Amino acid sequence: MLKNKVPVLIGIAAFNLLMLPGAVAQKKLTTIIVDAGHGGSDNGAVGVYEGTLHSKEKDVTLAISKKVVAELQKQLPDVKTLPTRTTDVFQDVRDKAKLANDMGGQLFICIHADSGPLKRASRKIGTREETRYRYTYTGKGKKRKKIPHPYTVTVPVYEYYLLPLQRKGTSIWIFAAHKTSDKLKTIMENGEDFDITAGESEDSAYNQFDFNSVVGRQLAQIYASRFQLKSNLLATYVDDEIAKTGRPALGVNQRQVGIRVLQSTNMPAILVETGFINNPEDERYINSEKGQQEIAEAITAAVIRYKQNIETMNKGNSNAQLEKDIQKAEKDAAATPAAYESRTTKEVKVLEVKSSKIRVELFDDGEVDNDVVSVYFNKNKVVDNRSLTANGYVFNIDLEPGKTNELVLYAENLGSIPPNTALMVITDGTNRYEVRLSSDLKNNASIRFELKGPKRP
Ligand SMILES: [Zn+2]
Repeated sequence: MLKNKVPVLIGIAAFNLLMLPGAVAQKKLTTIIVDAGHGGSDNGAVGVYEGTLHSKEKDVTLAISKKVVAELQKQLPDVKTLPTRTTDVFQDVRDKAKLANDMGGQLFICIHADSGPLKRASRKIGTREETRYRYTYTGKGKKRKKIPHPYTVTVPVYEYYLLPLQRKGTSIWIFAAHKTSDKLKTIMENGEDFDITAGESEDSAYNQFDFNSVVGRQLAQIYASRFQLKSNLLATYVDDEIAKTGRPALGVNQRQVGIRVLQSTNMPAILVETGFINNPEDERYINSEKGQQEIAEAITAAVIRYKQNIETMNKGNSNAQLEKDIQKAEKDAAATPAAYESRTTKEVKVLEVKSSKIRVELFDDGEVDNDVVSVYFNKNKVVDNRSLTANGYVFNIDLEPGKTNELVLYAENLGSIPPNTALMVITDGTNRYEVRLSSDLKNNASIRFELKGPKRP
């Protein structure tokens, strides 16, 4: 049911983006941003293992990123490669992201170094003599006396130290765009920045949309999915090129927290944890000319493969795996989450309305207790993870004539006073309705609309 019911709204998006020839054409890769992590007052991780370099991550990332920039400029002279910093300065991650967006980047590569927790251990370094006492007593009553008898014992002496980190190697991180709306929010907030290269259909298509509309949201979601796929593609190539150097390639990982710089850029982005700065071997490697150059060359080789892949797709090369992946991501973006499907949806109210244009205002019903909800309209998410308050949150929906139109309240939590309750004030231009909905982690609550009277306003 889920799979063959293609939402009409996605259909509209698909028409604009996918059906028009050239609409999905990828841009030529012309601008790459290389970011040296940390800097200035922010040292990043520090090599702390005894006897090693005590190097700072901010210096390692600067040295490596300079080599990455130089290598990309050498091997891809037609591509503009720009660093976020070339000196030891502090940059807020949001500033870094803004800089990358402002420079018109189409690919964002962050250079970092990892560190891991060190285990404490002890070792015996010798012995020492310790005086202890044994006591005897003489006399009785008030004459009772305690007599100490000293004796010597030999006790071991331990030294405590940190074990060198065993973990070493390079790992690549990408932002888990499909799991959250953060990247979406950035995309929506920066909607006007989409037209990076004027006149290109891909970007101008987005500019026609209001990103707060349902269609705009769906488009933004597709856009985010595309960033993620391309990010993943580059990350996979970097991992592969690192493996070729013989060093441990720890794979491609996705996460949402701690990589704000990735989620704030309007372009595919990866973060390379080049090595563990508190592993003695890795610390030496990422501080060495040879190691830094090897990493730079591996990243460059990966970017070249990435560039070839996306640009070949441009020329209509049929069946590029990426194109398939993008289509799959678009389908997934349109699909409702499994959690939504696994809950029972209870129909609370059937509303007969006179217009297809419906305005909905969403409030917390009763005491405001931090209820967080999402709202789905015909299985498309129209409200994403919103805390309900006494102030209404307004959104609009467009009923589809001749179809079952269903608005579903989905509880993201239960608030402090379960269940999760919402008041929806619904207007169709003529009439006003108040509907109280209650949902929990097993049940969704729904309103079904029946369109009566004029089908189109
Ligand atoms: Zn870092």
